Amino acid sequence: MKATKLFFKTRKESPKDADSINANVLVRGGYVQKHMAGVYGLLPLGLKVYRKIENIVREGMNSIDGQEIMMNVLQPRELWDETGRFSEISEIMYQFKDKNGKDIGLAPTHEEQVTDIIRHHIKSYKDLPTSLYQIQVKFRNEPRAKSGLLRGREFMMKDMYSFHVDEKDFENYYKKVGEKYLDIFSKIGLKTKYVAADGGIFSKYSHEFQVICPTGEDTIYYCDKCDFAENKEIAKVKNEDKCPKCDGKIIEAKSIEVGNIFPLKNKFSSAMGAKFVDNNGSEKDLIMGCYGIGLTRALAAIVEVYFDQENNMMIWPESVAPFDVEIISLEKNKEAEELYEKIKDKIEILYDDRDISAGEKFAEADLIGAPKRVIVSEKSLKSGGAELIDLKSGESQIVEIEEIASVL
Ligand code: ATP
Ligand code: MG
Repeated sequence: MKATKLFFKTRKESPKDADSINANVLVRGGYVQKHMAGVYGLLPLGLKVYRKIENIVREGMNSIDGQEIMMNVLQPRELWDETGRFSEISEIMYQFKDKNGKDIGLAPTHEEQVTDIIRHHIKSYKDLPTSLYQIQVKFRNEPRAKSGLLRGREFMMKDMYSFHVDEKDFENYYKKVGEKYLDIFSKIGLKTKYVAADGGIFSKYSHEFQVICPTGEDTIYYCDKCDFAENKEIAKVKNEDKCPKCDGKIIEAKSIEVGNIFPLKNKFSSAMGAKFVDNNGSEKDLIMGCYGIGLTRALAAIVEVYFDQENNMMIWPESVAPFDVEIISLEKNKEAEELYEKIKDKIEILYDDRDISAGEKFAEADLIGAPKRVIVSEKSLKSGGAELIDLKSGESQIVEIEEIASVL
């Protein structure tokens, strides 16, 4: 794509109300626009990155037999009264009356609706196990919407729900999802810890996927040698303790929760009458699990981790970068134009063909964060081609124009 065609406008100054690295970079780079506290719209650049994250997550869920559905934002009170949650979580759930005086809520999560779907469709052990997921907007009346897209009042989540004949079958699947999550997060560039956490009102435990990051809201304790990790809310260890599992040392760290998986047991199935007939002909409650990934939070977490504050520069992981390469032509030159035409169908490329100063081009390129940069200038042409820079390693080399396509 040519920069002259791209809908974006970067800004030099940090927005006054930016309360975090991600809000600052994403607003300045023209990825998102803040609409009100905790509510951000995705602009073309932001949506491009978001879609890449979403697709990696979708592929991951499909690979463990998740089936995609689309549930609803509008929730009737009656359904939530079956579990008592319309009153129980009224502080977090946006609630209002429609014109007929009916109580409606905006979905902060979807256990009730998915259980309603299942009780209409699952009758026998032969229909199990099954697993449904969706990628959808969620609403939560967060008292402190902050840290940009890390904590929104309207945000995107992938939520999956699984249904099993017994605890054992559930446990096996829960493990499989946990492993898949680690793989998904590493594919989008986030190294996560699998952290034991509070199970809330549903169960003794849950597991969170935490990205170690100084700007995170959570605190975790993890072992420097093995996979032991606990959220501070349940931790029985402290900084520099000996690891309870090996001879390693416990480290305290700030972190961002990007995913959370929970055993739900029969909490929803028993309250809502979601039963099946087992292979002996007796009726039983379904055993359930739920599995969330914060998609817009993951996007924000990537910025928190990858933004280079020293050089005021974003470098996206290759898998989610809005562009693989940015070509910058310093003087209008036909070599840059030809190079762009030659490779534009092969890789995702942004070609800055605008008539603006080199300084402005570089400042914008630093916010767009394509992992590779090709600079075509009179100087580079004199040295034999274009300058190819790998931003991650900082390595730069002059490559003949004809060779660039194959080198990239
Ligand atoms: P938190 O403890 O951060 O408030 P939570 O435990 O209430 O989150 P879950 O119900 O577990 O969140 O939701 C699943 C995932 O959705 C979380 O792991 C997180 O990545 C994401 N998420 C939750 N709340 C928000 C929010 N307000 N804005 C953006 N993402 C969110
Ligand atoms: Mg959580």
